[in-house]
Amino acid sequence: MRTRTPFDIAVVGAGMVGSACALALARHGLRVALVEERSPPAWSAADEIDLRVVAIAPSSVDLLEQLGLWSGIRDARASVYRHMQVWDSASGARLEFDASDGNTAELGWIVENRLIQHTLWLALQNEPGVSLRCPARVVGSEDEGDTRSLRLDDDSRLVARLVVAADGAASPLRQLMEIGVSGHVYDQHALVAHVRTERPHEQTAWQRFLPGGTLAFLPLADGRCSIVWSLPPEECRRLREIEESLFLQELGCAFDFRLGPVLSTSARAEFPLRLLLADRYIAPRFALIGDAAHQVHPLAGQGVNLGLRDVAALVDAIADPAGRDPGGITTLRRYERRRRSDNTISAWGMDGINRIFRSEFEPLVLARGLGLRAVNALGPLRQLIVRHAAGR
Ligand SMILES: Cc1cc2nc3c(=O)[nH]c(=O)nc-3n(C[C@H](O)[C@H](O)[C@H](O)COP(=O)(O)OP(=O)(O)OC[C@H]3O[C@@H](n4cnc5c(N)ncnc54)[C@H](O)[C@@H]3O)c2cc1C
Repeated sequence: MRTRTPFDIAVVGAGMVGSACALALARHGLRVALVEERSPPAWSAADEIDLRVVAIAPSSVDLLEQLGLWSGIRDARASVYRHMQVWDSASGARLEFDASDGNTAELGWIVENRLIQHTLWLALQNEPGVSLRCPARVVGSEDEGDTRSLRLDDDSRLVARLVVAADGAASPLRQLMEIGVSGHVYDQHALVAHVRTERPHEQTAWQRFLPGGTLAFLPLADGRCSIVWSLPPEECRRLREIEESLFLQELGCAFDFRLGPVLSTSARAEFPLRLLLADRYIAPRFALIGDAAHQVHPLAGQGVNLGLRDVAALVDAIADPAGRDPGGITTLRRYERRRRSDNTISAWGMDGINRIFRSEFEPLVLARGLGLRAVNALGPLRQLIVRHAAGR
């Protein structure tokens, strides 16, 4: 049995979102416990670029910068993108964004999940205000009035004034708290690989809308592109398993050979996709953040960016004004008010785009072609979209 001296905060889950949350709260002078069932995988510059990468928006860069970690991540192995090109296979319409639309030097960065997690984990190990409990799994939680207790799988207990669940889309803690979810499973899986193309990626994030889903080519630091291709599950499986030369040919064709032929590929991986929204983000002395609260379609590369915006909002709610009870209802309501509607609008917005661009209904194809061309021609509208995606 461990000590029952309460922590200010217990964060469950050391993914990118939970780790950033624990570190940011500790930097505000709070005593934080971080519980994680598996040690995050190590990262080394000598390793191949990992298959799991994320597009990091400027708002996420801001948070990592405040934590003093961004320049380390950027210099270790991040790839900037300054342009974005989106086009529709059916109507042929195209939309282009540029960093200058957002008045910034870049639209975002492509970074390995593992590099972000590893960097945060090293910082957490050196943070005096953080107590790491890993490997340890949360198996129970009880409201104790001014505190909440967590039961761990080694039969020990942790007590905190606020428990933050950042334990991913399946969130065991959300289930223990009996918080329901809405949403649906997409009839699409994401096929992910790193590929080399004949022509350079031009620091551009490319995205083509196809009837089966979107195909993105994201620029990597070694000149290759990371592809994220959402497809009906059986088609995804077929493309994951077919012989490499056939795959390269089909991929190049689906991408309109925009960067010339696709010359080689890494191993291919597949991820099921779903839209998930928690019915509420808070309960007594409890808050949900990251994928535990919302899981979104990856077509706009927003999942972890929304999660890191949850972190910024929760830290703001707790830190201001100083001395407020971190798990008090006013603090928690403030956090929920700031994040739930933004996440819900983003999730359904991406869902809507996915539906509209998959449709082959002629009038809709015509309308979306007109829409893309109109947005492309209207500078202020493009700027608004870029500013929204940047999250600033
Ligand atoms: C194909 C694909 C492409 C994507 N591309 C992008 C992109 O370009 N940009 C973007 O922003 N997002 C993207 N995303 C989404 C992004 O990957 C997720 O939003 C993000 O990884 C979620 O992070 P998290 O920290 O909330 O959860 P997770 O990474 O799932 O972390 C949860 C952690 O909790 C731990 N845990 C679980 N249960 C317990 C327990 N009971 N006790 C202790 N620990 C526990 C787990 O071990 C894990 O470490 C993409 C997703 C997919 C599938």
